[in-house]
Parts: sequence; structure tokens; C-alpha cells
Amino acid sequence: MDRNAKLEILADAAKYDASCASSGAKSTRKDSRLGSTEGMGICHSYTPDGRCVSLLKILLTNYCIYDCQYCVNRVTSDTPRARFTPQEVVQLTLDFYRRNYIEGLFLSSGIIVNSDYTMEQLIHVARTLREEHGFGGYIHLKTIPAAADELIEEAGLWADRLSVNIELPTESDLKKLAPEKKKPTITGAMSHIRQRRDEIQSDRKAGFKAPRFAPAGQSTQMIVGATDTPDAGILRTASELYGDHRLRRVYYSAFSPIPHADARLPGLAPPLMREHRLYQADWLMRFYGFNVDEIVDDAQPDLSLEHDPKMAWALRHREFFPVDLNTAPREAILRVPGIGTRNVTRILKMRRWKRIRIEDLKKLRVVMKKTSPFVLADGHNPGLKDLERLDLGRKVQTKHRQLTLFDAAGSALTGEV
Ligand code: SF4
Repeated sequence: MDRNAKLEILADAAKYDASCASSGAKSTRKDSRLGSTEGMGICHSYTPDGRCVSLLKILLTNYCIYDCQYCVNRVTSDTPRARFTPQEVVQLTLDFYRRNYIEGLFLSSGIIVNSDYTMEQLIHVARTLREEHGFGGYIHLKTIPAAADELIEEAGLWADRLSVNIELPTESDLKKLAPEKKKPTITGAMSHIRQRRDEIQSDRKAGFKAPRFAPAGQSTQMIVGATDTPDAGILRTASELYGDHRLRRVYYSAFSPIPHADARLPGLAPPLMREHRLYQADWLMRFYGFNVDEIVDDAQPDLSLEHDPKMAWALRHREFFPVDLNTAPREAILRVPGIGTRNVTRILKMRRWKRIRIEDLKKLRVVMKKTSPFVLADGHNPGLKDLERLDLGRKVQTKHRQLTLFDAAGSALTGEV
């Protein structure tokens, strides 16, 4: 099979991994000839300094000895297979890089022979790029579950980011759909990466010349909707991963039905809005000071599809409002629906030299329909009279439209919730 045919199979197979922020859009405009968003090859990711980089996103191979039921590459699937040699991946990366198509590589793989062998092949690519070709671009390597600690340590020396996919939110979900994968093995690898990063950081602080180790941190992916675990289970796992392993990002990926799927899997993908709401809830936990039990609880284990999670919280906690924009602390303003982190900072700056008025919010392009029932500002705010209305939820509901994955990624990036 020639290199292009392999590229077609292995770049397409990589699209199911959501760990690159903007990959995997579901459709391209009808009849377009330029600007395809589907299928293969180049995705975008964000470096620690906030730069967006284009990455060649491929699998080394889509052969796999595991039988994860949600995955098109599982051993029992009849999908067309292909395998690159490490040298071919190195050459492709260099070719794309020299033509200025990409700034780095995102490399994952099905498991062949065993976890260690597969991990060695991925490391081989990264090491060759760095050592033999002096490649300074961004490298994101997927670590293989159950690979030896020494291999993960070596991977971190060549890669900017490592990811260990948790795949499903609970241990029983894994047992049901990916019996070869064990949660303690996955979280064990995450904790090893975290420890190694901590050691290197403290060596550096102490003035030693320690090597770089996955400087862009680690991320993971969780598939949503392959089992009936509610959003509460998904967000609790995410919160645990952020807390215990200091992950940079958890990516939520709506389950996409695959050909000849097992009867235990749903026949339909969950609504994309669910994935979008999970990204919004994730931002509330990371940047808005919410803890997971404020966003979901056992009485309401799923996020509302009608309202974003901050609005849903505000509607349940009217006693917290109105928030006075001229006196309230940052933490309280962060809880006002429709005011994102950047606007909170702008409001706090502005109020050092003037009283905040409703007109100022309009200038900041705050969505007044969402915000005005919940804030006190200088001067008259007619929206405030709605705070106690029983039908406030309906009034503040934004018009439903079908989302694309780009919406989810955009919201995840701006954090405007
Ligand atoms: S180990 Fe990865 S590639 Fe293999 S079947 Fe499971 S999810 Fe798919």
C-alpha cells in the first residue's frame, strides 16, 4: 500500500480522538471544493503560551489487539487496516513541516504486539524527529495504557504534551465496553507523569539543569454517551482528574455510532449540545470557582440542555442575586450568567475609576437578556424586576440551534459562560 493510501486510512482513523481542540467537525459545506473540515489529517492545538498550532494528526497503525466496543479500530472490527513504519511518520512530518502545512505532530496508535512495543514505536518517531532531524516543532504523543513507567518517562523527554485517555467515565463503564482497560492503570500513568513533572520542576527551582519533560502537560479524552452514565459521573471523574493529576484539559467526545457495533452500544449519537454543555461545565470548574456538586447532583444528575450550566445554577439559586457590580467581589461577579472571565476583569478595572452602569455592560457586549435579571448597577435596570418571575427560565432561554464541534471548541477556548 502506498504512503498516501495509508495516510488516508490512518489520518481518518485518528479523527475519533478529540484531544486536539478543533479536529473532527462533522460536515463541510455542500459542493465546496476548498476548505474541507472532514476526515484527515490536520488538527489544531494550543500551546501553553496560548498559540494555536496546526498538527499532523495520525495513527501509527489502526491494527489493535484490544476490543474496546466503542472503537472502530477494535480487533473485531472489519475496518480497512494500515500501518506506517516510524520512519514513514518521520518523513511525512518533515515533508508537511517543510511545506509549512503543520507546526507539529499528534501521534497515536492502536495497540500492536503489546503496550510496551507500541509505546516504543511512538517514542522512536519522536526521538528520531528530535535527535536526528533537530525537529523543534510541537509533538503530542498518546501514551499506551499499561506501558512501562520508563517508557512513559522517555516519551515525556521528546513530547511537549502527553495524553492518557481515560475513555469512559467510570470503572464499570470500562468493564462493560473496554474490558482490557483498567482505571487504576490509566490513572497510575497519569500520576506518574505528574510526579515526574513535579520532580523536574523542583530540580529546576533548586538550580539544577533538569531535562524538559512534557512541558505542555497532559490531557485526556472521555467519550460521552456510549453508556448511560449521567453528566454527574462524567464531571466527577473530570474534577478528580484535574485535582489528583493536574491535567491541562479533559476533552469530551460525543460517542459516534460505528459500523457493526455491539448491541450494548446506543444506535444514536448523543445530542452535540450535551458535549457543549459538558465543556461549559468544565470551564465553570476550572475558571469560575464552581465545584462539581454545585453544577450537578444526584437529584439532577444531567446538565440542562436548555440553559448553560451557569444559568441553570443561577435559576436554582435566586437568593444569591442580584449581584452588585459596583461592590461585589470577583468570585460573585463570576457567577452572573452571561458575564465571562474577561468581562469580569474589565468590570473590576473599570470600577476603579467610575461607577458601572447598565450601558457599560452593553458596551462590553454582555448578553443583556441573560445578565440583566441578575445584576444591580448604577442607575435603572428594568431587567431586575424579572428575578423572581416563575417563567424566568423560559425568558432567558437562548434560541436552540444545532451545534458543530467548532462551537464547543470555541466556547471551551473563550470560556464565556
Ligand atoms: S485500545 Fe485504543 S485503538 Fe485499541 S480498540 Fe481500544 S480505543 Fe481502539
